[in-house]
Amino acid sequence: MTASDRTEGEAPIGVAIIGGGPAGLSAGLQLVRANRRIAILDSNRPRHSATLESHGFLTRDGAPPLELRRLGREEFERYPTARFAQVMTREVQPLTPEEARATGFPDGIGFRVRGTGVRGASDVEFLSRRVLIAAGLTEELPALPLIRAYYGTALHSCVECDGFEKTDKPLALIGETSDVFARALLISRFSSDLIVFTNGADTVRPDQEAQLSAVGIRVERRAIDDIVGEKAEMTGVRLTDGTVIPRVGGFVRPRWHAPVEFLGEQAIERDDWGLIRVDERGETSIRGVYAAGDIVPPGPQQLIIAAGNGAQVAAKLNMDLIRGALGVGKIDD
Ligand SMILES: Cc1cc2nc3c(=O)[nH]c(=O)nc-3n(C[C@H](O)[C@H](O)[C@H](O)COP(=O)(O)OP(=O)(O)OC[C@H]3O[C@@H](n4cnc5c(N)ncnc54)[C@H](O)[C@@H]3O)c2cc1C
Repeated sequence: MTASDRTEGEAPIGVAIIGGGPAGLSAGLQLVRANRRIAILDSNRPRHSATLESHGFLTRDGAPPLELRRLGREEFERYPTARFAQVMTREVQPLTPEEARATGFPDGIGFRVRGTGVRGASDVEFLSRRVLIAAGLTEELPALPLIRAYYGTALHSCVECDGFEKTDKPLALIGETSDVFARALLISRFSSDLIVFTNGADTVRPDQEAQLSAVGIRVERRAIDDIVGEKAEMTGVRLTDGTVIPRVGGFVRPRWHAPVEFLGEQAIERDDWGLIRVDERGETSIRGVYAAGDIVPPGPQQLIIAAGNGAQVAAKLNMDLIRGALGVGKIDD
C-alpha cells in the first residue's frame, strides 16, 4: 500500500495519540490548542475501570474515573482539529522518508496507524507525523480466584490514591515482587495493623523483615488460597493450609505490562520492569514515537501525574513538529 491509499476522508494528521486516558487526553488538548490536527485512538479499557471513585485530582477529588475521562474527551472534541476514534490500535508502521514527504511531512518522518473499531465504531487509518503512546498498562493480579471481586473496593493497587480511606484498619499487602518492602513502609503511614503476604515468594529479605517487624508489620510467607468475604465485604485472607487471617482490605501489587503489540517487530527500548524508556523530551528509542503516562518509568502513578506528563510531552512534540518543518533538528534549546 502507498501513502496515497489512505482511508478516504482522513487527512494526514500531526500526532496520533494511542490511548484516551488522562495522559493521552491531556496531550491531545494541548496539541489541538496548538492548532494541530490530532487523533486520539482509544479502546476504552482503562485499568481504573475497577473503581468507582478516584482521589487526589485537584478540583475532582472523589469523582468517578470514567466521569473524568468523559469530561476530558468533551473538552478535547470541542476543537475543530480534534478527532476521537473508539478503536483498538493494531498497527503503527513507519513510512519510508519518500512516502512521508509525498504525504506532505516535511522532515521525512511519518507513520501509518491503523485501528479496529470497538463497540460498533468504524475502523480507522491515519497517516501521522508523530505518534504518542499513552496506552497505560495492563495488569495481572496474583492468581487468586476471588481477588478481582474485591479489587477497586476493598483491595487497591495505588497507595497514594486509596490509602487515606484505609486509615487505622486491619490491612493486607499482597505482593510477589521485590518492591513490597517499600510499599509496606508507605502503607504503615495509614495503619499500624498491616500484614505483608508474599504468597510463597521469597521477595522480602531477612533484614527488611526485621525492619518491618520493628514497626509492627508482620510478614506472612505462606501461600494464599484465596480472599474471603461476606457479600461485598472482604473479611480475610485464607492460606492454603486453611488458616484464615482476618483483614478488611488493603493493597495488592499487580504485575504490569506495557501493551505495545501494535509496534509489531519494531524494537523499542524498555527498562527492567518492561516499561517504555523515554528521553527527557518524552521520545522513545524509535524516532518520532513518544510515550507518556503510566506506561513510562517509574510506572503507575496517579491521574494528575499522567495528565501532567501528557501536557509536558505535548509541548516537546509541538516543538519537534515545528523544528522538523523548518529542518532545524530536534534539540529545542
Ligand atoms: C483500580 C485503580 C484505581 C485507581 N485510583 C486512582 C485514584 O483514586 N486516583 C489517582 O490519581 N489515580 C488512580 N489510579 C491510577 C490512574 O488510574 C492511572 O495512573 C492513570 O489512569 C494513568 O493514565 P494513563 O493515561 O497513562 O493510562 P490509562 O488511564 O490506563 O489510559 C490508557 C488508555 O489507553 C487505551 N489503550 C490501551 N491500548 C490501546 C490500543 N492498542 N489502542 C487504543 N487504545 C488503547 C486503554 O483502553 C485506556 O483507555 C487508579 C488505578 C487503578 C488500577
